[in-house]
Amino acid sequence: MAQYIMSLDQGTTGSRCIIFSLDGALKAAQSMEYPLFYPRPGWVEQDPYDILTSQLSVAKKAVETAEIEWSEIAALGITNQRETTILWDRKTGKPVSNAIVWQCRRTAEDCAKLKENGLEATIRQKTGLLCDPYFSATKIKWLLDNIEGLRQRAQRGEILFGTVDTWLIWNLSGGKIHATDYTNASRTMLFNIHTLSWDEELLRLFDIPPEILPTVQPSCSFFGMTDASVLGAALPISGVAGDQQAALFGQCCFEEGELKNTYGTGGFLLMNTGTSPVNASGGLLTTVACDVEGKVHYALEGSIFICGAVIQWIRDGLGLISSASESEEVAKVAPDNGGVYLVPAFVGLGAPYWDPYARGAIFGLTRSSNKHHIVRAAIESMAYQTYEVISAMESACGIKISSLKVDGGAAKNDLLLQFQSDILDIEVVRPYCFETTALGAAYLAGLATGLYKNTEEIRMLAQKSNIFRSNMSDVDRKKLIAGWHNAVHRTLNYDIYEKTD
Ligand code: ADP
Repeated sequence: MAQYIMSLDQGTTGSRCIIFSLDGALKAAQSMEYPLFYPRPGWVEQDPYDILTSQLSVAKKAVETAEIEWSEIAALGITNQRETTILWDRKTGKPVSNAIVWQCRRTAEDCAKLKENGLEATIRQKTGLLCDPYFSATKIKWLLDNIEGLRQRAQRGEILFGTVDTWLIWNLSGGKIHATDYTNASRTMLFNIHTLSWDEELLRLFDIPPEILPTVQPSCSFFGMTDASVLGAALPISGVAGDQQAALFGQCCFEEGELKNTYGTGGFLLMNTGTSPVNASGGLLTTVACDVEGKVHYALEGSIFICGAVIQWIRDGLGLISSASESEEVAKVAPDNGGVYLVPAFVGLGAPYWDPYARGAIFGLTRSSNKHHIVRAAIESMAYQTYEVISAMESACGIKISSLKVDGGAAKNDLLLQFQSDILDIEVVRPYCFETTALGAAYLAGLATGLYKNTEEIRMLAQKSNIFRSNMSDVDRKKLIAGWHNAVHRTLNYDIYEKTD
């Protein structure tokens, strides 16, 4: 009988379900969008029931379109948007409020106070994270402080906390399992990444009752069975990981020094640093990666705030192209950047600068500059930003990287990937299957249930890919990088108005 793995990929704007056959081929995919709510400027929420019902609905549709029986699915993997925070009633399963989404800035002041009180170093040392509203801890505290009677109910053990994976596992198991995995736990700012346990000192600091916390276990392990009445069959939930860590695993970055970049709306670079954490600085984070052959791995993570979004901006903001894919042919008309650099610091800059006051700019314009140069400069900006994060990672861990694996919407752009390879002077590898996040969760689930023997077997499955190799002289590379540095430094610390507000 055929065997398949189902992967639930729960993202910020929608739910996806992908069914893979054991050779990693995509059998069926279904997705559904659902709304985000913005109740006040800077606040972002979601209805936990939207998350759940959309996820269940795409799972059922995927089985229909695959034309298979539920009994043919041998394992279930879950991957999800990270940090988003949900609290619910242990007895009724009813959420106490909307989910607070990772993007929500409502606790910015709380984080600023923690920094003023000199607590950032402790948080950094224990969790590998920067003190930022992005992570779950201050979101949980906000709910406990702002919903009447909630803290007392939590102390009485009536309330449960979960990131989106935990919320799904709880509901899929019919309210039996309250669990998360190391990768998701490592994004809460409450989890000690060295001891791999909830940190008592941080729980005291954020005034969070330990009773609400889920149990934590490796990504590649058995979490429990789904309740047959929820999905249509009792399936083993056996792979769980946050989206970026799942993509790292789906790209087969199992060993120290292997890294991937996802060129989505933003850019997410993760590098496997092996079985011990590397101290991060300059906007890089240290985080837990999926376990490999029973051993916990760590990763360095760097985010680029505006990656593919720069292409949306030249399409919608400037009207220079009519679709994202057109960017490549428009850029190709110019043989090079003609000295033009576009720094897309629209919302400040992420790693390695971490400067909220940087603002975007186009530099090097002359009378001969034209739209082709600007579109090319936009594409190249994704590559320069990636180059800078990789350089920061190389110096943090003293490893020279030799290959970069890529995915995400903008990785369809050959011009970008060729230029990326030229600027980094390493090979850039694009897999044929772009669904690396869902694939990562499927691999984890398949490994934990014995469908795959080991990661070596998985590596053999994933061999098909496009490889881009550097074709640029050292002199040209150095010149271009110097031009980018010149441009980017002129955008730093720019927004004096926001600073004086
Ligand atoms: P996310 O999951 O973050 O929403 P995706 O991985 O779907 O994003 O990628 C979407 C991004 O990729 C958009 O910002 C879009 O501008 C960009 N993009 C899509 N196709 C291309 C292309 N051919 N060239 C350059 N950028 C592209």
